[in-house]
Amino acid sequence: MSADLNHYKLLYEGKSKILYQGPEENHLVMRFKDTATAYNGEKKEELPGKGRINRAISDFLFSYLEEHGIATHLIEVMDENTVHVKNTVIFPIEVIVRNRAAGSFSKRYGIAEGEVLHNTVVEFSYKNDSLGDPLINDSQITALGLAEIQDLDSLRERALAINKLLCPLFLRSGIILVDFKLEFGRAAFPNGEILLCDEISPDSCRLWDVSTGAKLDKDRFRRDLGHVIEAYRDVYQRLIDGKKT
Ligand code: UDP
Repeated sequence: MSADLNHYKLLYEGKSKILYQGPEENHLVMRFKDTATAYNGEKKEELPGKGRINRAISDFLFSYLEEHGIATHLIEVMDENTVHVKNTVIFPIEVIVRNRAAGSFSKRYGIAEGEVLHNTVVEFSYKNDSLGDPLINDSQITALGLAEIQDLDSLRERALAINKLLCPLFLRSGIILVDFKLEFGRAAFPNGEILLCDEISPDSCRLWDVSTGAKLDKDRFRRDLGHVIEAYRDVYQRLIDGKKT
């Protein structure tokens, strides 16, 4: 059962999450919705159970990362769809990490999906729905005042450290981490520390079965492959099973 959040002040409703003012000043309440969207909101559907499973996967991964020295916004789980998080000022930048070519990278450079890259790629895109989240480089980011150069160095370093932790974690569960998107924010309190925010889930990663290559992520929704929630549940179960081994 999801807790009734009517008495919390609604701050923002996005495509897949809702943010409320938390019970304490520097806390927010983040609820994962069942809505699935792709292609900048053009494709949209309700997938019952998606919020719950993404919340569970994201908590699992954030807790793992915290245990391994990555600071995150996660405070505690409130209910199956909802978590308490630290209030942050989010950088308006998506940090994309790629181990293999896929999606927009394959399209842009004409490379077959699945091609292993010579090095891990870290890309930034400008979080702006009306512009379609365009790719943006360091000098463009600083020119627009979106972040300082030292922040970008720090985001890149953290993104690579997260990739180093998550690749073997997924592989232990028979899953290849092809690419993923991260968001970071600066804690509003007490010291402006940079924290990993938002979520890491099959909505924000490409996850392929190591032996069959089956897609276990949002591409099932984007490309109408069916069995979206079943694939997300499979990812969660494999992560849990992987922890036991
Ligand atoms: N991604 C995301 N949100 C975005 C854009 C990308 O979570 O707004 C994730 C996407 O699921 C994939 C990775 O970032 O795991 C790289 O996405 P890509 O640039 O290939 O974009 P796509 O073609 O999938 O939109």
